[in-house]
Formats: sequence, structure tokens, C-alpha cells
Amino acid sequence: MVFKLKILLYYFGFLLQKKNLRDRNRLLKLRNKRLKRFWRILKRSDYYRFLLKTNTPLHSFPVMNKVTFMEHFDQINTAGIKKSEAMKLALEAEETRDFSPILNGITIGMSSGTSGNKSLFLVNENDRAKWVAAVLNRVLGISLRKRKVAFFLRANSNLYNSVRSMLLEFRFFDLLRPVNTNLILLEEFNPEILVAQPSMLKEIARAKQKGEINLSLKKIISVAEILEPDDKTFFQSVFNIKIDEAYQCTEGFLASSCEHGTLHFNEDFLIIDKKYIDQEQKRFHPVITDLLRVTQPVINYELDDVIIEKKYCPCGNACMAIEQIEGRSDDILRFTDSSGKEVQVFPDFIRRAVITASDNISFYTITQVNSHTLKCFLEQDNHQVGKNIREKVEKNLRSLFSKLSIEGIMFEFINNNSLDRGTKLRRIKNEYSTSN
Ligand SMILES: [Zn+2]
Repeated sequence: MVFKLKILLYYFGFLLQKKNLRDRNRLLKLRNKRLKRFWRILKRSDYYRFLLKTNTPLHSFPVMNKVTFMEHFDQINTAGIKKSEAMKLALEAEETRDFSPILNGITIGMSSGTSGNKSLFLVNENDRAKWVAAVLNRVLGISLRKRKVAFFLRANSNLYNSVRSMLLEFRFFDLLRPVNTNLILLEEFNPEILVAQPSMLKEIARAKQKGEINLSLKKIISVAEILEPDDKTFFQSVFNIKIDEAYQCTEGFLASSCEHGTLHFNEDFLIIDKKYIDQEQKRFHPVITDLLRVTQPVINYELDDVIIEKKYCPCGNACMAIEQIEGRSDDILRFTDSSGKEVQVFPDFIRRAVITASDNISFYTITQVNSHTLKCFLEQDNHQVGKNIREKVEKNLRSLFSKLSIEGIMFEFINNNSLDRGTKLRRIKNEYSTSN
């Protein structure tokens, strides 16, 4: 009961603060208040304590990434939990698919990430209550009627279970189950709210289009993978509702979409520094500090994601808006131009070259497999595309490359796209070079 009360308290806290999100100065004032509270808790972290003593400003704290964050796991967390014991418990839970690893009252979550290296996250009851309250406030919304939520996930966690039994009935759909089984179970459950990644939404949308599944959805929230604009349009036309988005990762609840469909960072509790990765200062890696998480402080953590900022959204939210999440830094294709210089080709350019080739392309993946070869998979309504579409895609890509003085690229068109169930779909990826 205490836990539910906490959720309610935090929920009303977010609700009351909502008006402050519309004015940049008030937003920053609110965040400073949260930062002061965060500062006090940080004293419990062996890793950060000495930095506090020397009055080091937050932006000068060490920049973390997945590797360093795991390396200093034991010292960073404020709960005295050792990485070895947390990892053991998380792996056991993954193995048995019994998702309830709790150690000294702390929930342990594990994310394999898309590159296969596992990272652990720790949340205590307060962290969880705040997370649930934020998700209820920004994504699910609250209603006095009990609503059913279908949640497609690679692995369940107590973090997600905690939403259950509020005014929501949550059901977890395991992505490792065959798609058809999940579709049957989904129809049986008949949810009002569907939370899933675009690759799963695509399966559901196709089944609906063919009349194989009947659903009465009121809300769809796209998570975990990048929602491509053309997919968003497709889903909206099939389901006939607006598609919402939540940008959430192991490191925190980062952003959610407003009524105009724009993702806004949760800047009232996130401090976001932009580390630009291109000369035009258009694309950046967010370096985040999450003021809500106290068990495992996330400070100056550089995410791999490549973000393009949106300068204006008519909704009036003063939090930074996102034009596009372009994928991760290792999704950027890298070639050598005719003068021998390395050239980065951002996923968005590849995407445009592909989708503008034909309206009939319903699915594609483009993978760089070596310094000069792209493996391409193109699909039209579950079938391979014809030769003319392949040629158009190749022509578009060649013209893009020639503008960048990249020559001699080979195209290998493949007939099968083997995506392991449960892994995240990355349409454009670089399997060859991941250097920055
Ligand atoms: Zn907006």
C-alpha cells in the first residue's frame, strides 16, 4: 500500500508541476530544486563523494558510458550492491524467465543492449514509484476506469510489473514467443492500450490489415526501437489513431510525445548536454544526468543515440524537442572518399534514398558489411521487391555516394532478412566499423 501511495504522491507532484514545463525559466528553477535534493543523496555514493567535497561542478564530473558505468558499478551505486551478485541474479532471472530479482529491496534489471554487452540497472522502491508516476503522467495517462495494457517486451522486470493493479491491468507479451501465438493472445486479451516496438507493431498492423486480428485499441505507444516517419504514417492509417512515443532506455525515461506527436525530453528531471558529432552542429549524443534515480546515479552519461533537435513545437512545452532519433553512433555508415578521407553517412540519408525510390517498399534493411559493400534487403507486402525497385534504390544510393565522393560501392541484394526474435530491429546498421 505504501508503494501505491508513493506513486500517487509523485503523480500529483508531476501534475502540479506541469504548468512549469511551459516556461523555460520556471522549468529550470524546478530542475534546480530537484538537483539540490539529488546532490544530498549523492553523498552516499563512494564514487561521487570526493567530487562533492571538492565542489566540482556537475558538468565537470567524469563522462560515463556503458563500459565505465559498469566498471565503477560497485562504487557508483548508493545501496552497497556488488556487480557480481547483481549480475548473477539478473542472469538467473533471464534464464528462468521468472522476472523478479530483488536484492535488499532493490530491483535489478538487465539490458543486453543491441550490441550484446549487458548492463545492469538498480532501482529502489522510490525510484520505481517515481518512474511509474512519470510514465502515468506523461505516457499512459490516468483514467478512473480500469484499462488493459498489452506490453511487448524482450524481458519483463519488476519495474514494469509495478504499474499493475493501479487502474491498469498490465499483461506482458514475451517477444521470444512466436508472433502468431502472441497475436492470438493479444486478441484474446483485447487491450485498450498497446505498448510495443515498431517491428512488432508492424506485425500487428499487417494482421489487422488482412482482417486476421480484431482489436479495439484507444492508444498505441511505440517504444524501444526508432519509429520511422513512414512507419508511423502506416500505423496511423491502419489503426486509425495517433501513435504516441516513449523514449526510454536502461539509463532512464528520457522523452515522451506531446499532442503534436513530437518527442520532448523530460528536462524537468533530466539535465541534457549535447555532444555534437557533426560539423554543422546538427546531430548530437545526449549526455544525461537523471535527477530521479538515486540508487544508481546516472550522471553525465553519454548515450550512443544520435539525436537531431527540433527547434520549435507548437504545443508550448519548453522542454527540448526531438526532430528525430537517428539510431546509434554505430549505425552511421563509414566509407573512404576518393581523397582517402573517412566520410560518415548518417542513417537518415540512407533511409531517404531508399524510401524515395518507391512507395511500394514496405520493409527494408541496409547493412554495411565491409569497407565497400552494402547488404540490402527490400520487401513489398511480405514479398521481395521486383528488379526495377532494386535498381531504383541502387541508383538513389549511388547518387548519394557520388555527391560525397564515395566510389566503388558494391550492392548485395539478399532475399532473406533473419532478425532474431526479441532483438531490436535496426534498419540501417554498420557491422563493419564502429569507430567514432
Ligand atoms: Zn510538442
